[in-house]
Amino acid sequence: MPAHATGANPYADTEDQAALRQLARDVAERELAPMARHGDETEEFPQWAWDGMRKAELFGITIGERWGGAGLGDIEAAIVLEELARADVSSAILAQLIFNGPPRAIEHLGNDAMKDRWLPIAASGEGLFCIGISETEAGSAVGHMRARLRPDGDGFRLNAYKNYVTGGHKARACLVWCRFPDSAGTKGIGAVVVDLESPGVTVAGTHVKMGLRATSEAELAFDDVRVEPDDVLLWGDPANSESFKTLISHINHERCGNAAMCVGAAQGALEYAVNYMNERKLGDKTLADLQGLQWKIADMATQLEGARLLMQRAVHMAGPHGTPPALETAMAKTAANLAAKFVCDEAIQLLGGYGFSREYPVERVYRDIRGLCIGAGTVEIQRNFVGTSVLRGATPASDGWKSRRA
Ligand SMILES: Cc1cc2nc3c(=O)[nH]c(=O)nc-3n(C[C@H](O)[C@H](O)[C@H](O)COP(=O)(O)OP(=O)(O)OC[C@H]3O[C@@H](n4cnc5c(N)ncnc54)[C@H](O)[C@@H]3O)c2cc1C
Repeated sequence: MPAHATGANPYADTEDQAALRQLARDVAERELAPMARHGDETEEFPQWAWDGMRKAELFGITIGERWGGAGLGDIEAAIVLEELARADVSSAILAQLIFNGPPRAIEHLGNDAMKDRWLPIAASGEGLFCIGISETEAGSAVGHMRARLRPDGDGFRLNAYKNYVTGGHKARACLVWCRFPDSAGTKGIGAVVVDLESPGVTVAGTHVKMGLRATSEAELAFDDVRVEPDDVLLWGDPANSESFKTLISHINHERCGNAAMCVGAAQGALEYAVNYMNERKLGDKTLADLQGLQWKIADMATQLEGARLLMQRAVHMAGPHGTPPALETAMAKTAANLAAKFVCDEAIQLLGGYGFSREYPVERVYRDIRGLCIGAGTVEIQRNFVGTSVLRGATPASDGWKSRRA
């Protein structure tokens, strides 16, 4: 019998997934939540969170067993990211970089030497990884990037200046998108993995930001950095854009992780507002007794649940070892970014003056998720993709769309 006829939620956690969720929630509440304000105020790297996640062996969940991981997929990554972000988005981003950043790309697209070199470091939590795509003059317009390789014996030399690299100041290695020799536009764009201890790599600075303050975004300069043949993740052929397309579609893992963090962060803000409303007295009533405010909660919960379902659909469609589909992922990221913005904004309003105070967590969550609406492809870029896809006749995977077109 199909799931919808049984009354069951098709995306409900299995027993193992529920146990993983509980583990992540325990780590989040014990290690992340008590220090989240400190990280935000001081901009100190959340070593406490890193150590807690490492001790619980969370970093290896999406990495193959051969390299010390658990070999799980996007569903489990999303579960853990939701729970971590419910407590602290700055810390959750560290797990996002391991689950859905360079290690995932290395395992799916890299050569054996690269996998053996880097994946055990990622799975054990021995080192952080970062991703360098954006440049000062090539963010959304990524095809204009200037990072380039020049031939050097059997390998290459990399010259690049990458901007807004999350965790770049602390990471052990960086996945750098760059042009192979003689390329233009999106043709010939490929990617290499660079050991950040290599000669020629410098952290040129870190951005001063409104949110996600415990995890810095760095500017990384690569000055004639040697790239061995084994460091090439994906060769860029100047005759076509195939490697670029592969890299772009692989970002869907990161977009789903971004959506999961937004869902988790908004869930935390909603729960905080509900508890506050039940306790906050106005004479002989509580805030929860006021119908106008109940409607706010209704809208917050409804938008959040819609976003959660879209995110869950995208990660379930990836299967255990695949990549989430582009259209469903773009819809999920858009919905989750917008739901998180709405829910966190309303949570501030529901707390009144206290919502605006840095002594209460909801304003921090609002500032944190604001960055997630820009990173991993802005809301506008997701909308461009969804809009043009639907106008061309693409249909997301749901029965209603299929029967309309039949
Ligand atoms: C918290 C955070 C973390 C990040 N982490 C990383 C990272 O780890 N690695 C990395 O490489 N980059 C990272 N980035 C950079 C991010 O990917 C870019 O900021 C983003 O792609 C937008 O590029 P931009 O900042 O140059 O803005 P621009 O591309 O200049 O865009 C400016 C505005 O115009 C809109 N816009 C641009 N083009 C279009 C269009 N065609 N149609 C409609 N609207 C458009 C954008 O949506 C945006 O609102 C991060 C950013 C943030 C905020």
